[in-house]
Amino acid sequence: MDLGLTDKVVVVTGASSGIGLATAGLALDEGAKVALCARGPERLGDVAEKLSALYGADRVLAQPVDVLDEAAVTDFAAAVSARFGAVHALINNAGQGRVSTFADTTDDAWRQELELKYFSQIRPIRAFQPALKASGQGAIVATNSLLAYQPEPHMVCTSSARAGVQSLLKSLSVELAPAIRVNSILVGLVDSNQWQRRFEAREDQSQSRDDWFADLAHKKNIPLGRLGQPDEAARALLFLASPAASFITGAQVEISGGISRYI
Ligand code: NDP
Repeated sequence: MDLGLTDKVVVVTGASSGIGLATAGLALDEGAKVALCARGPERLGDVAEKLSALYGADRVLAQPVDVLDEAAVTDFAAAVSARFGAVHALINNAGQGRVSTFADTTDDAWRQELELKYFSQIRPIRAFQPALKASGQGAIVATNSLLAYQPEPHMVCTSSARAGVQSLLKSLSVELAPAIRVNSILVGLVDSNQWQRRFEAREDQSQSRDDWFADLAHKKNIPLGRLGQPDEAARALLFLASPAASFITGAQVEISGGISRYI
């Protein structure tokens, strides 16, 4: 199947590692031009250098941006339009989860988490909306979490914020139609930097990486018996972002190895 992404412009936030990086690479494989951002300039610079060497510097634009910084996001959108013109897809992927129960989540932590989850969508969508509309076939895809539908008490504020974001995306899929489609993926557990950090902080430091991840998959009862890989989430993001998904809006695709227990 041809995704129809040749020469299309795809923006990926949080693209210096994990799912975002895999998505940027796949989009370039499909012939798209890619604009990527993340906060840390060093890791982003290394990634941009590698992608430019592989696919050509004329197809890659990388800019250090915190998606919560309105001015920086606006500058990024202006830079992308100046370089590539219209934008066909915005993939809102930047972020991370917060592990805390209700008892140990302070008001400040609640505010930070709600700000991260909502404004990592709101700011890029506002900034890129004109360029997406100008493409005549704009698409927004959000990396969301299965926690939106299946909350976990040990991630209480992330779960709650994720559910609210699904509601926001559903509303936007109506408000922005027919010019822009809006979809999301619901990630279960994907082996990215987030899990690498938790592995490095493991209680039993003698446990190997393979054993720690196998244990995790077992404890979480993942029917497919393992965590997902970043490119397994990236393929779904890119499909929803592409013209191949032209009649899909307001939808969510679960990428979890079957971990959900709802119908
Ligand atoms: P990684 O930590 O590997 O990648 C996260 C990326 O986002 C990095 O490039 C990071 O770079 C960037 N980033 C984080 N915060 C910001 C910000 N405020 N502005 C711009 N860039 C930012 O994690 P994943 O690939 O796992 O995460 C991708 C998305 O998937 C996240 O939204 C995460 O919450 C979600 N997710 C992941 C799950 C998993 O199991 N992996 C489960 C459920 C959801 P830098 O730090 O330099 O900014």
